[in-house]
Amino acid sequence: MDGKSCEYRGCGQLATSVLANRRYCGEHFIATCRTELSRYFQIVQEKRLWEIPRETVRKWIDECVREADVLDRRESGLDDSLRRQLQDIILSAVELGRNLRRSPRVVAQIHLRVGAGEWGEETNTKLISRFGALITVHHPVAVNEMLTIVRPDRGRAVHARVAWIHETAPQTTDVGIEFLDAENFWELDWTKSTPF
Ligand SMILES: [Zn+2]
Repeated sequence: MDGKSCEYRGCGQLATSVLANRRYCGEHFIATCRTELSRYFQIVQEKRLWEIPRETVRKWIDECVREADVLDRRESGLDDSLRRQLQDIILSAVELGRNLRRSPRVVAQIHLRVGAGEWGEETNTKLISRFGALITVHHPVAVNEMLTIVRPDRGRAVHARVAWIHETAPQTTDVGIEFLDAENFWELDWTKSTPF
């Protein structure tokens, strides 16, 4: 680690781990992992995983497990309590990874009408999950805005919250939506590993 210091505020001890481009000493690596893990598990529990790109969570999990493992194997400098915490972090991160797989995203094009108040437009889903979808819209939308989503093929409508937006071109935005009041809007069996 080239004798660099821990970047946890006010620490300055020798850094031994890297997580999300920041260097940490053992103690603050553990503290940061625990904070981030509980934040992620909260998001999983609240079904808000759409707020974070899946790849970001995966990369974080991989890095967390790898760095915790390296630290755990190190001979000296760690007491038993820190070692147990590292093993707990590895198990939790692996469990978080299982949670990601449990709510799979499926590539599917389903025709929708989407709108709010005065505006409405036709679109197709790009990805769907049990609790939402990724769609493209041309009307401006904002995070936390409420949308009405209609499936003309089934005559069903649902309210959804804008959880995440990414502008891909002028007047073109990828929107992660999260259903508020539908248990199984797509009418798919999500208990199978592949719903189709
Ligand atoms: Zn530190």
